[in-house]
Amino acid sequence: MKLLDKIKIIKNYWPVSKFYFHSLLKRNKPLFGLFFQVTDRCNAKCLMCFNWKKINKKSDELSLDEIQKFTKTIGHLSNLVLGGGEPFLRNDLTEICQIFSKNNGVRKIGIPTNCLSTDKIIDSSKKILESCSVKLKIVLSLDGLEKTHDHIRGIKGNFNKVLETYKELDLLREKYPRLQLSINTTISNENEDNIPEIIDFVDKNFNIQFHTLELIRGCYNQKNVQAPSLSKYQELIKYIFKSKNIDKNIYHKAIYSYYHKITADILKEKRQLIPCRVSSFMPVIDATGNVYNCELLPKIGNLKDVNFDFSKIWNSQIAKQQRKDITNKKCYCTHYCYQIQNIVISPYHFLKAISK
Ligand code: SF4
Ligand code: SF4
Repeated sequence: MKLLDKIKIIKNYWPVSKFYFHSLLKRNKPLFGLFFQVTDRCNAKCLMCFNWKKINKKSDELSLDEIQKFTKTIGHLSNLVLGGGEPFLRNDLTEICQIFSKNNGVRKIGIPTNCLSTDKIIDSSKKILESCSVKLKIVLSLDGLEKTHDHIRGIKGNFNKVLETYKELDLLREKYPRLQLSINTTISNENEDNIPEIIDFVDKNFNIQFHTLELIRGCYNQKNVQAPSLSKYQELIKYIFKSKNIDKNIYHKAIYSYYHKITADILKEKRQLIPCRVSSFMPVIDATGNVYNCELLPKIGNLKDVNFDFSKIWNSQIAKQQRKDITNKKCYCTHYCYQIQNIVISPYHFLKAISK
């Protein structure tokens, strides 16, 4: 890699690295971002749903008033990811973004979507962009071409809804340059043989910021849905590295390539290979107010039990003990969202990622 490219990459990731190193010096560590699962409702029936135990069960979603209350106790946030369920099923998604923008100074909001409710997605995105001065990144899920995607997502016609939603969002992007679009593909044994055709299809048909291919997380909806074998994954990585979408984005390319290489090592060694620090500055709150250091670990409390004072849970003994256990490498995973951030804030792994 050219020296100039290395400098550009360091500059691109500097805000998160700087935040992390500054926070080490502070007693009450501030948060960088938040994963907020705004709803447990979903209109898809994905075979590999990571959240299937909660999906469409009767649950007491946090109201706007309750969101107002807890956001006033959480401090400044640079990044916000609104997940679910299907986030766009919440009719007050715009208001939620407005609250975070006002109370926490959020400047970047990411929202993944299954693309089934095109009109709502377009309508809410437009309202968010009009009422909040944020960069809005919509991540469209695409797990295969028509037959495979509809099979994995459990909804006939879902593939065509992805194309329709992309077309509408693409038009919206002309008016709102703050709108960014990405595609996410979850790799499992259900689509492991289709990965090359998905990459080619996305390269040819979408003008997006990035195409992320990530391994299925633990806890699947169906027992026969699994991560690919290590040898299959290693074979897929070679193809993933050839994607034009990956190639054109020098910022993500180095880190993303390193993520796949280290993920193969984690699968092999079954242990934490990159120190996991992200859980100490990007917690998770689910739709009913449960708080987590990391969504793969048990909850550390519920906002409803502490009058929506997030700091009471975050600074509790149970939260601190779990973070200590994480630092002591008592858990491991290949979770893309976390591992990418872990690479960026680890000087050793970051330099290794950009060293080639
Ligand atoms: S993976 Fe996402 S889109 Fe699919 S069922 Fe689960 S929550 Fe819904
Ligand atoms: S290593 Fe994985 S499971 Fe453990 S805290 Fe980090 S992200 Fe969560």
